[in-house]
Amino acid sequence: MSTTFTPPADGAKITITNGLLNVPDNPIIPFIEGDGIGADVWRASQRVMDAAVAKAYQGRRHIAWMEVYAGEKANTLTGSWLPDATLDACREFLVAIKGPLTTPVGGGIRSLNVALRQILDLYVCLRPVRWFKGVPSPVKRPDLVDMVIFRENTEDIYAGLEFEQGTPENQRFLTMMAESFPDLYKKIRFPGTTGIGIKPVSQEGTARLVRAAIRYALTNGRKSLTFVHKGNIMKFTEGAFRNWGYEVAEKEFGDQCYTWEQFDRTAAAHGSKAANDEQTAALAAGKLLVKDSIADITLQQVLTRPTEFDVIATLNLNGDYLSDALAAQVGGIGIAPGGNINYDTGHAIFEATHGTAPKYANQDKVNPGSLLLSGEMMFRYLGWTEAADMILNAMDRTFADRIVTYDFARMMDDAHEVKCSEFGSALIERL
Ligand code: NAP
Repeated sequence: MSTTFTPPADGAKITITNGLLNVPDNPIIPFIEGDGIGADVWRASQRVMDAAVAKAYQGRRHIAWMEVYAGEKANTLTGSWLPDATLDACREFLVAIKGPLTTPVGGGIRSLNVALRQILDLYVCLRPVRWFKGVPSPVKRPDLVDMVIFRENTEDIYAGLEFEQGTPENQRFLTMMAESFPDLYKKIRFPGTTGIGIKPVSQEGTARLVRAAIRYALTNGRKSLTFVHKGNIMKFTEGAFRNWGYEVAEKEFGDQCYTWEQFDRTAAAHGSKAANDEQTAALAAGKLLVKDSIADITLQQVLTRPTEFDVIATLNLNGDYLSDALAAQVGGIGIAPGGNINYDTGHAIFEATHGTAPKYANQDKVNPGSLLLSGEMMFRYLGWTEAADMILNAMDRTFADRIVTYDFARMMDDAHEVKCSEFGSALIERL
């Protein structure tokens, strides 16, 4: 089968000029249905997205969807897990959306999700975490959780710089270390049986992530931004992330931010009362508080004092753990959306954050909320806020009526459990 795609005749391309998207009323949006439960959640979500756009814009706007392939469907149809044509379509049409894709553990193909992010240089993984009234939660006050995570998406130990134990490459690397860095080599506890991974974290990569997070916080009237890192242990990667982050805040947004670095300098020079007064005045003047927190304590504090966290900027692995842990506080990964974005080129892929849940595939059972709310994020990114708001309102009203899929129903006493497609229909009725 051909791996090229024919753009729908009724659509037009999204373009970007000087960092601003030009979105036609009929944008062509490539979509990847995804593996496992992907087909179920895609079908339900697409219907709701189309209905929201039709209703919000009374037929003046519509999405010209264009299916592109990745994962098992791509492999079956084209012999490639991630055809070049799919990457070309994402490059050409700028904004795309996808369901989950299979990644075998410990061997086989590398993660297609990670590949898409790296090849298109989608350096921000954006994960908003908020609670919808009525959604069951394991914590007492899920309503206090309202955070937006900016996870760095292209560096860290996700970069794929690994040497498998027992391979000649691993041996060459260890030999090079032993010769060039004997003191470091001595720190490897069992060099004969060690797999190696490298953790690159750059100043440029950090700066663009932090810049995007601060801009988002300022534009959306957020109160604070926290750098989450493990810089006490990994000084030259995670510690540097923290330091470079503060540098961006002070050098590029100094008149709009108040940083804990500034607090420390004032406290050292004039005492802690002066620093406290300075911080209070800065926040009263509407400045964004920029602070930092060590990753392990953060995982406790997002549970015990969620109101202290607002926008979070963090490295790739921390962000992965943190966003799934936070998702659990507001109802689980069945409802957690995500977007992968390069704010400079405009490229973005919005995606369900859960996996392919193969045991539920094709049963029309699972929660389509994650993919649908990723669509809601996509509409906001396109500037189609009316359609986005409509989806959020419909979600609120559907949960208020106790209409939920199995994942929520099992945690509720009075739920009306519906199938994946029925949940989509319930949302459409409430748009
Ligand atoms: P998973 O597919 O996310 O499933 C884990 C569990 O999460 C499911 O058994 C189910 O819990 C719950 N769940 C997931 N999606 C749900 C939904 N839409 N509605 C309700 N509940 C949902 O994770 P996994 O089993 O670790 O991974 C399976 C495959 O997915 C792997 O190949 C992995 O690499 C891949 N994956 C892909 C992505 C991605 O494409 N972005 C992300 C993560 C994982 P219960 O069993 O308790 O009902």
